[in-house]
Amino acid sequence: MKYDVIIVGAGPAGLFSALSLESKKVLIIEKNKYAGKKLMISGAGQCNYTNSCELSAFLSRYGSKGRLLKNALYNFTNIDTMEFFEKKGLKSMVREDGKVFPITLDASDILKVLLKGVKENGVEIIYDEAAIKAEYDSLKGMFTVKTNKSTYAGARLIVSAGGMSYPLTGSTGDGYLIAQEFGHKIVKPSEALTPVYVRDYGFKDLSGVSFEDIKVSQWRYGRKLKEFTGDFLFTHVNISGPVILNNSRYFEKDDILKINFTSYSNNEEFRTFLDELILSSGGSGVVSVLKRLNLPKRFIEKIIEIGNIDGEIKCSQLHKEERRKLCELLSAHPFTVERLGGFNVAMVTKGGVAADEINFKTMESKLEPNLYFAGEIIDYDGDTGGYNIQAAFSTGRLAADSINHQNT
Ligand SMILES: Cc1cc2nc3c(=O)[nH]c(=O)nc-3n(C[C@H](O)[C@H](O)[C@H](O)COP(=O)(O)OP(=O)(O)OC[C@H]3O[C@@H](n4cnc5c(N)ncnc54)[C@H](O)[C@@H]3O)c2cc1C
Repeated sequence: MKYDVIIVGAGPAGLFSALSLESKKVLIIEKNKYAGKKLMISGAGQCNYTNSCELSAFLSRYGSKGRLLKNALYNFTNIDTMEFFEKKGLKSMVREDGKVFPITLDASDILKVLLKGVKENGVEIIYDEAAIKAEYDSLKGMFTVKTNKSTYAGARLIVSAGGMSYPLTGSTGDGYLIAQEFGHKIVKPSEALTPVYVRDYGFKDLSGVSFEDIKVSQWRYGRKLKEFTGDFLFTHVNISGPVILNNSRYFEKDDILKINFTSYSNNEEFRTFLDELILSSGGSGVVSVLKRLNLPKRFIEKIIEIGNIDGEIKCSQLHKEERRKLCELLSAHPFTVERLGGFNVAMVTKGGVAADEINFKTMESKLEPNLYFAGEIIDYDGDTGGYNIQAAFSTGRLAADSINHQNT
């Protein structure tokens, strides 16, 4: 059996390519027993499938890779995505923070629309079969894709087999091996959108305590590298929340993350404020004065404990060194990165098929004509907020549009 297009992987990228191809005989090979396993757990099962922010802002949510995705994201935008689902009868729900979900808050409804589109487009899907090898047969002018059960031939090949995170969903890096067979470089895959384990974590009992819009600065060898702002969360084993998850792509072992839990823009400003507050509250207890800072009570108590400060003493009894320590713990609290969360908990993969070997106007390989890549297999990774699924849809759509435009 010969196909016009073979697609490896039935995640959001592969499915969107398949439903967008026009008048083609298409085969999807999926190694799981059903499609979209990762999509089903996305957004805690509610599927935050895109974001309502301006497209220009969108591009900044993929680190340095945003400019590469520009064509794909402008060719099929976040608004196009919402309209696509709405036309299929699935309304969207836009949250105040810009995250877009299906109105039903159920990822399976997104998957159903995708699978219906694929079916209506006459696409064949083979489940429970893993592509293990692909090559171009120049005599036949066809790609042959070998699976653990059979061999298929197709005039074009789209590889959308995902990255390496959450391997139980099927993305185990197989697509990289296929890309390598065509000479593609793989940028070392690493975890992104992951919580961070820090040394001597003392906040276990504050699990669930969160802070809105706070500043985190990243230090390496005594030098400040970057500063980030966003929401922060203590869990029972690590630090998390969007400001940590989104920027984990930049963190390395032994980096120091200094967290400013206060609303003051930096450590110096807070020091001036704290010094005045303490000096003007001589007779009051330190803990009761610190509780005026509009920070969670349990957190203040923990800071007093970590700073080894007697919570019973009055402000006038607090030594200069203790004031300095308090200031640091509240406005530049140092956490040393021990390790990132690992692929089992990372929501996306950083690294993958090297971007400089892909034509981002078409998603076609620069090394092998008629070979395309779409989705997370490519070396890009987006922030939390719907940016990754949107990128999978948009790159999948662009690969299909490029093939449609070839008219052969
Ligand atoms: C817990 C979690 C929550 C997330 N939440 C969100 C969210 O709310 N919003 C958001 O934007 N992003 C979210 N993401 C990220 C998002 O789900 C992914 O970026 C997206 O699914 C990538 O799509 P993809 O099609 O490129 O790859 P995948 O979804 O990984 O699909 C790849 C498919 O290829 C198949 N495959 C792999 N190897 C082979 C092979 N050899 N042969 C055949 N088939 C193969 C796999 O089984 C899989 O079905 C989340 C991720 C996780 C893990």
